[in-house]
Amino acid sequence: MNLKRYAMKDLACPQLTDVPPLGMDAASLEMDIRHYYTNNLGRDQHCRLLYYAYEALALTIRDRLMERWKNTRQAYEDADARRCYYLSLEFLMGRTLGNAVLNLGLDEEIEKALNNLCLRYEDMVDAEPDAGLGNGGLGRLAACFLDSCATLQLPVMGYGIRYEYGMFRQNINNGYQVEEPDHWLAMTNRWEVERREYRQRIKFGGHSEHYYDDNGRRRARWVDTQDVQAIPYDVPIPGFNNGTVNTLRLWRAEATEEFDLGEFNAGDYAGSVAAKNEAEKITMVLYPNDASENGKNLRLGQQYFLASASLQDVIDRWTTIKGKDFSRFAELNCFQLNDTHPCCAVPELMRLLLDVHHLTWDEAWEIVQATMAYTNHTLLPEALEKWSVRMFQHLLPRLLEIIYEINARFLKEVALRWPGDLERQRRMSLIEEGPVPQVRMAYLGIVGSFSVNGVAALHSRLLQQGLFRDFYEMWPEKFNNKTNGVTQRRWLAYANPLLAELISSRIGSGWTTDLAQLKQLEPLAADRAFQQQWQQVKNANKELLADFVADKCGVAFPLDSLFDVQVKRIHEYKRQLLNILHVIHLYQRIKQGDIADWVPRAILIGGKAAPGYAMAKLIIKLVNNVATVINHDPQVGDLLKLVFLPNYNVSAMEIICAGTDLSEQISTAGKEASGTGNMKFMMNGALTIGTLDGANIEMREEVGADNFFLFGLSAEEVEERRRHYDPAAIIAADKHLGQVMQLLQSAHFNQFEPGIFDPIIRAIVNPDDLWMVAADFDSYRIAQEEVSRAYRDQQGWTRMSILNSAASGKFSTDRTMHQYNEDIWRLQAVAARKVGEDGKYI
Ligand SMILES: *Cc1c(COP(=O)(O)O)cnc(C)c1O
Repeated sequence: MNLKRYAMKDLACPQLTDVPPLGMDAASLEMDIRHYYTNNLGRDQHCRLLYYAYEALALTIRDRLMERWKNTRQAYEDADARRCYYLSLEFLMGRTLGNAVLNLGLDEEIEKALNNLCLRYEDMVDAEPDAGLGNGGLGRLAACFLDSCATLQLPVMGYGIRYEYGMFRQNINNGYQVEEPDHWLAMTNRWEVERREYRQRIKFGGHSEHYYDDNGRRRARWVDTQDVQAIPYDVPIPGFNNGTVNTLRLWRAEATEEFDLGEFNAGDYAGSVAAKNEAEKITMVLYPNDASENGKNLRLGQQYFLASASLQDVIDRWTTIKGKDFSRFAELNCFQLNDTHPCCAVPELMRLLLDVHHLTWDEAWEIVQATMAYTNHTLLPEALEKWSVRMFQHLLPRLLEIIYEINARFLKEVALRWPGDLERQRRMSLIEEGPVPQVRMAYLGIVGSFSVNGVAALHSRLLQQGLFRDFYEMWPEKFNNKTNGVTQRRWLAYANPLLAELISSRIGSGWTTDLAQLKQLEPLAADRAFQQQWQQVKNANKELLADFVADKCGVAFPLDSLFDVQVKRIHEYKRQLLNILHVIHLYQRIKQGDIADWVPRAILIGGKAAPGYAMAKLIIKLVNNVATVINHDPQVGDLLKLVFLPNYNVSAMEIICAGTDLSEQISTAGKEASGTGNMKFMMNGALTIGTLDGANIEMREEVGADNFFLFGLSAEEVEERRRHYDPAAIIAADKHLGQVMQLLQSAHFNQFEPGIFDPIIRAIVNPDDLWMVAADFDSYRIAQEEVSRAYRDQQGWTRMSILNSAASGKFSTDRTMHQYNEDIWRLQAVAARKVGEDGKYI
């Protein structure tokens, strides 16, 4: 391939500033859609596949993004702006079309254009597969961050991996989860631009070698490596109506050309093709483990691949523009590490600066410590990544050497500060000693960074008091909190157009970029006419959700029932079990005729279980078995419905959050770092039943205790209770829980599947139950009775619903990004050229 550099100036026409931007009116859009469909895609009236109509539309929209993208790059370059790079192994983007249309302000014109073409916008939207390059909250957070950064016009670029297969598709077979590969790239992805001109070389294996350079300085180099190429694919990230389009750069692994040739010349053609596959494995699949480490070779390979490709890319841009002088590098660059996953960036930046750019250790370390910032996402010990030293040695020998050196210097600092405290040195070491020595990635993140943050106030406090206590004592100034958020553009304006319209009709549309303005709804909460409109919108959204449920689960949700929803990854700490126990309790009340003043409930539970997480998978089976019994019992009828919604993803959540009455945020206190599903629901006017955990605490503070259904032990109480936790005694003393456990034990939900739920029963009665399901049952049941009582008063409920939405302003990622920028990144916003009313650049 000829990748010789040409002067492309004439081709790209950057000097022709009066080239008018593309038309944003229905007629221009329609013309372009027709053009792409016939001239580019070569389709005609005989093509039956809707996908190609979608593709023509996507290309039409992409053209409009492309010119803004180019202008944004130019503006950043001209401003010589300080930049931030958000490194994340996950970006749970969902679909792009609807969001791009919204952010470009094209909604109405697209509707018109499609109308003329006899196409329905919903069908176009549905033709696009979700970009499911993430597990759950952590990956979706990264996606919301990018949206907010583009809207705030911050020069932030995302770096991630272009997995060939994203998050698996979840099917349910006989109540069990069955995973199916998600080949989201089977059709051409029109939202990415391959940029081979920025490919990078990534080293693996081999060994390091020390030598003296011409100036007699001792240096190291990493040799005899098996290299892999990283090919970047750029995805446009449009800001909201502001002319800015930022970049998400995703890397794909490809075999190097020589690699193939070597094998080929040795006469092993088949072997050379196999070697190619080996290299390309690195970005083949997303690891589907949410909040648990994995320890697999390939996963460490992915993490290093992302860190190395991204850092080399940033450094290449630096040396191209600034040359070999790194003295201002830290002033103009900053890296935010999304959890420990990309923490190889710390030793890798050291390596690049030392071995490739020949800085001294002290110069390099100063740059690393001034550019890296680390975000922690969990307190669960099983999620804290550790890599065996042996694996590191084998895969990344030069990196391990650097980690040892960082550790030696760091432990010297600890010893100086706490002389003789060997126990402390052992605790804080980057290397955990033991039969299998391991590299502690979180500690590497802390030592290498100037900022360490948690994702909600409680979480950040618990980090400082617990997990990272020693480090907090050493460097209190590094630690800070950044409470998560979600973008209201996707999660309210796009996902809930009816509510968005109603809100804008009363307070204007300023909330789309300043969510705090929702506060202006507060005085309307008691307004009878507004309440009725609010209720109408909720009912319309419940109908859409009921249609979705009927389609996916074959169960009819009665519209007058309370829509009670828990959607999130299936995990013991999130306590879907507590929810099911309560459902069983409601079922028993119906069976016992205890239904005076009954509030009908339609309960939806959804989420994926990690394929290796047996207990989570069994919980899914239990939900399905309980659902089958309840939904087929004529005595239950419309009083109670339960479904397990298969394949929960971003597109499903867009429908779900708008149609939910009650949001279940019921994790064991101290275990959910923040939660973001909770915020999507609140924004859309759902009420929350929840524990004092993660961001629930701050949500309750914002909306007031009267408008939040609180239950359960606090984080402190959970820890206190552990020491004398006796679930058997709790069950014996609680009539309701006792009956629920009895019914479970009687195999009522598994009559022909003897014993399958025994592990669940054992977990609940185990005094070592980490999640203390039994401890919170009674308090949960009482709070749920309070919910039903509140729902009976529809006017009161609607008032609270409005107040929840009105109080959700804090939970916009616009606020979150503003705080990251104020405290950590310190970037200047840079505006790109805007298009004026006359359709020309201003
Ligand atoms: C928001 C979101 C999550 C995170 O939900 P939590 O309740 O905070 O765990 C996970 N998955 C998807 C698809 C989401 O949209």
